[in-house]
Amino acid sequence: MKHMKTVLILEHTEEVFDKLTCDVCGAESHWDENWSSAEPEKKMTTIQLDEEEAFPNGGQSMQTQYHICPTCFKTKLSEWFESHRQAKPTISKSVW
Ligand SMILES: [Zn+2]
Repeated sequence: MKHMKTVLILEHTEEVFDKLTCDVCGAESHWDENWSSAEPEKKMTTIQLDEEEAFPNGGQSMQTQYHICPTCFKTKLSEWFESHRQAKPTISKSVW
C-alpha cells in the first residue's frame, strides 16, 4: 500500500509520497519505492494493471497496483504462480 502524508509546501498543502508498505505482510520500505535496506542495493517490485482508452479528443486510463515486498514476492507470490500451471517468471539480468 502506498501511504501518503500531507506536508506544508509554500503555504499550501498537497499529497506527497510518504512510505510504501507490503499489501501481504505489512513490511515498510526503508525509503521511497526501494525495498532494499542497504544503500547500494535496489529492490523494486511491480504488480500493476494498466487500462487505457485513447480517442482523438482525449481518453482515460486507470492503474491498479499491489505493493509487495521482495520476501513476499519470492515466498508467497512466486509460490502461488508456480503452484498454478507451473508458471515461471520472466527473468532479465544485466551487468554494468
Ligand atoms: Zn511482504
